[in-house]
This record gives sequence, structure tokens and C-alpha cells, in this order.
Amino acid sequence: MHNGYKGLNAHLTVTNNVCTYQNCVCHTLQRVCHNYFLKAKKEHMFVLINQKTDNMELIINNLSKTYSNGVKALQNISLEIPTGMFGLLGPNGAGKSTLMRTIATLQEADQGSIKFGAIDVLKQKNELRQVLGYLPQQFGLYPKISAEALLNHFAVLKGISNRGERKNLVNALLHKTNLYDVRKQNLKGYSGGMKQRFGIAQALLNNPKLLIVDEPTAGLDPLERNRFYNVLSELGEHTVVILSTHIVDDVKELCTNMAIINQGQVCLQGKPLQILETLKGRVYKKTIEKTELNNYKENYQVISEKLFLGKPTIHILSDKNPGDGFALIDAELEDVYFSEIFNNSNLKSN
Ligand code: ADP
Repeated sequence: MHNGYKGLNAHLTVTNNVCTYQNCVCHTLQRVCHNYFLKAKKEHMFVLINQKTDNMELIINNLSKTYSNGVKALQNISLEIPTGMFGLLGPNGAGKSTLMRTIATLQEADQGSIKFGAIDVLKQKNELRQVLGYLPQQFGLYPKISAEALLNHFAVLKGISNRGERKNLVNALLHKTNLYDVRKQNLKGYSGGMKQRFGIAQALLNNPKLLIVDEPTAGLDPLERNRFYNVLSELGEHTVVILSTHIVDDVKELCTNMAIINQGQVCLQGKPLQILETLKGRVYKKTIEKTELNNYKENYQVISEKLFLGKPTIHILSDKNPGDGFALIDAELEDVYFSEIFNNSNLKSN
């Protein structure tokens, strides 16, 4: 079975009709073994867009940036970001975009260093750009052209002059981002999620080793967000993918490593599961009346408040059992996030 799968995979690089061939392979393998199907589907795409890369690491050291208006957007940021999906989580204004743009060589830092493998990012900008895919928070699209035509046009600009090779690449990227069925539609008719997926497709054109995606799911409905997650989740195997977001679920669903930043500083970094351990046995929950909220905030370290069936449910952080009707719960990533933001903001205001 393994040899068959390898043989089939090798064929994929020479076929002209990506779609037909993929379906044929996948269906055959799906019947034989579901796991091989998934593996084949993934590796298939990687072969087609030549995405096999060496493991690289992005190392950021003491990076700082103060804007001319005095805002300290980055303050001694140090992060180690390995191959895989990395979630950079922080509230609006935390400094995420400043950091993303600096890594993408679009703006200068005041001090510090960024290394990507052997590349000194702040000095070797052209070298970095050759291996970079960047999806900014906002990007413009030509509305009166189809996804297929625009992707093909970008591929020409990237110097892929062989028509057959270009067609294969464009088809593979349209499949990868689940846009193949709507490839002939003009982009102006695309939903927000489809536009974001198109952004990913064009960011992948140069087969990047480092992919930066800045706040991609803001404004997407849950269905579109899920589709976007599915596209992103396939990318982390051979690439350093940095996903900047203020949405905790983005990180929970996708990322093997993460950091929380707030007010230009790293509050915490590590693996989500290990990070969750730090709150084990310390998060308590209680449903209260609306009028009691301020009282609880004065007496407890309230890290989050949500409405449940119209009533506020609060989560508090406490090293010992507070009694008073509180129940111990398993901490969630959201609790980690809010407790870090809470601590960080309190430290600043004291
Ligand atoms: P985030 O992406 O996490 O929302 P940003 O990096 O956009 O954060 O912004 C960090 C801080 O820097 C904010 O206080 C923002 O107002 C400020 N800022 C961002 N860009 C500029 C700029 N070009 N000039 C001055 N201040 C800026």
C-alpha cells in the first residue's frame, strides 16, 4: 500500500489536470485507508507547489519600536518561532501589526534583531522577501477579474514563464484554498472569507518558507472562519506560519506554539497545552446577578465575564477555594489570555 501511494504521488508532479488526478488518487486511497488519504492529499499539494523546505526558525531578539508620536509599540520583544503554526495573540493596539510589518521588512525597528535561519531580516531585506508570504490586515483586489486570471497574472509577475507550470501552480493553489469551484467568478462577488483565502493563495505563489497572516479572521462569520482554519491548518507542516489575532479561538484551533503580547510586551509564550497547565486548579466560575458584578470585581480577581442565558457568568483567578458558591473549572485558553491581559494592565497602572 505504501509503495502504491508513493508511486501515485510521484505522478502528480507531471500531470496537467491537477483536479482530475487528485480526485482519482484520493478516492482510491480513501477506500483503502483514510489516513493515507489525508497524507496523500496534503503531500500531493506540497509536491505540486514544491513546498518541501528545510526546517527554519525565526528568532526575534530585544526588538523595540517607538513611533514619532511617542507610542512605544514594541518594547524589547524576544520570541522564538519554530516551523508550524504560531499564534500571536493580543488585544487591539498591542503591537501585533507593528511586529508583523517589521518582520515582513515593511518598516524599521529602533533596536534589536530578527533572524530567519541564516538571514538577518533587518539587514538582508531582499533575501527575506524571496522566502516570505505576507497577508496584511487589509489588501486591495482588482474587482473585475476572476481569481484564476488574477492568480495567473501574479504568477507571471513572479517570473513563472512556463504556461503549463503556471496552470498547475494556479490550479493547485485554488484547490488548496477551496476556491477552485469559484475560480471563474469576478473577485467583487467574493465574500470576506473567500477574499481572505484568495489572499492566502497569492501569498503562497512564491512557495514561502515564512508566512505571515495578520488578523485574517476578523469580520468573518463562523462558517467562513472554519473554512479559513482548514486552509491554514495544512500550511504549518513545512513552513513557519505566524498568525496574528485578537481572537482566542484562532489560536486554540490552529496553533502549536503561541505568545500573548500586550502594550508592546510579551506577557507569555509557549505551547497552549503547557500554558493551560499554569492555571490548573486556579480558575473558578459563578453565575451572578447583573447588579452584583461590581461587588465581585472589587473582591475577586475577575478575569472574564460572559452572559449565559441572560445572566453574567464570571471567571475568577484564585490560588485557594473562594467558597461563596464558586465552582472550580478546567481553565481554557481564553482564561489564560484574559488573566495575562488583566495582570499586565494592572502592573502598568500600579
Ligand atoms: P495591533 O496590531 O496589535 O492592533 P499596532 O501595531 O497596530 O497594534 O499598534 C500598536 C500601537 O502603535 C497602537 O497604540 C497604535 O495606535 C500605535 N501605532 C501604530 N501605527 C502607528 C503609526 N504609524 N504612528 C503612530 N502610532 C502608531
